[in-house]
Amino acid sequence: MISERAAVTVIGLGSMGSALATTLLDRGHPTTVWNRSAHKARPLVDRGARPAATPREAIAASSLAIACVLDYEALHTVLDPVSDALAGKVLVNLTSGSPEQAHEVAAWARAHGADYLDGAIMTTPPGVGSPEMMFLYSGSHAVFEAHRSTLATLGDPLYLGADPGLASLYDAALLGLMWSTLTSWLHGTALVGAEKTEATAFTPVAIRWLSAVAGFLTTYAPQVDGGRYPGDDATVDVQIAAIDHLIHAAAARGVDNALPELLKSVMERARAAGHGADSYASVIEVLKNPAGGR
Ligand code: NAP
Repeated sequence: MISERAAVTVIGLGSMGSALATTLLDRGHPTTVWNRSAHKARPLVDRGARPAATPREAIAASSLAIACVLDYEALHTVLDPVSDALAGKVLVNLTSGSPEQAHEVAAWARAHGADYLDGAIMTTPPGVGSPEMMFLYSGSHAVFEAHRSTLATLGDPLYLGADPGLASLYDAALLGLMWSTLTSWLHGTALVGAEKTEATAFTPVAIRWLSAVAGFLTTYAPQVDGGRYPGDDATVDVQIAAIDHLIHAAAARGVDNALPELLKSVMERARAAGHGADSYASVIEVLKNPAGGR
């Protein structure tokens, strides 16, 4: 039976590339796969994937190629020798990198006659295929629209704009949010753990608090956009007083205080810049302009 789904090539079959290829296969896309270490293609071939012997053969097999290798150095190692094969093809690059690297590869792809979309995967391999999970894309809108339904197989595709660096820029910003949230959660878990509260008991309370914090973001976003930070909920001065309680509680229980001290120092810089009576959103002024001040 001939599939009505678009043929796709997946280059790179590590944890993530294998999850991408598995999902495409399971949803009926004729899928060609290639990986530097050929044995990783075996489970996919067992599911119906077509193995390509070389990157050139892989690119030739489909009009759309998705690349997901370790980093941009690996991407160039694989694709540079076969750049001529990319003419007339669409390359969707889901390899993590910086916006500058995305710009560079977008120009490189254009120079070789390929359409290019840059992407960032906002999940781990088990989340691939879930419509709840975000896949960020940037680059040509026409290319995104033409392949939206195929991309939607992998997760919810969010188009961010024509600048190919945007997906990587959002990715970096969102990973920063994740790391600071995870580390703060672990810090809080260590703190309550010092009083024999288990992580599994603390975490449901922490999750409820995170949804309140999400509400603060919604309140503060228009303040950031408007550059005005009315301190009518909680001021920077009030937050500085409150973080001292956290620092004291952590010190009294022998828990590391580097993160709270860092947060306090940023708040104090905002106060020194004249934002003591403003909302917490005013902290962005010292983040945007670390050397500045009033
Ligand atoms: P991985 O399991 O370590 O796989 C790395 C892949 O890159 C393998 O296919 C590997 O080939 C290939 N590779 C590395 N160096 C190479 C080289 N010099 N030449 C050719 N191929 C090379 O990593 P992963 O988790 O799949 O991650 C792949 C990309 O997805 C990364 O950019 C990562 O940041 C991104 N990502 C991952 C996750 C996640 O949760 N895993 C989430 C979001 C984004 P071999 O098999 O031959 O070593």
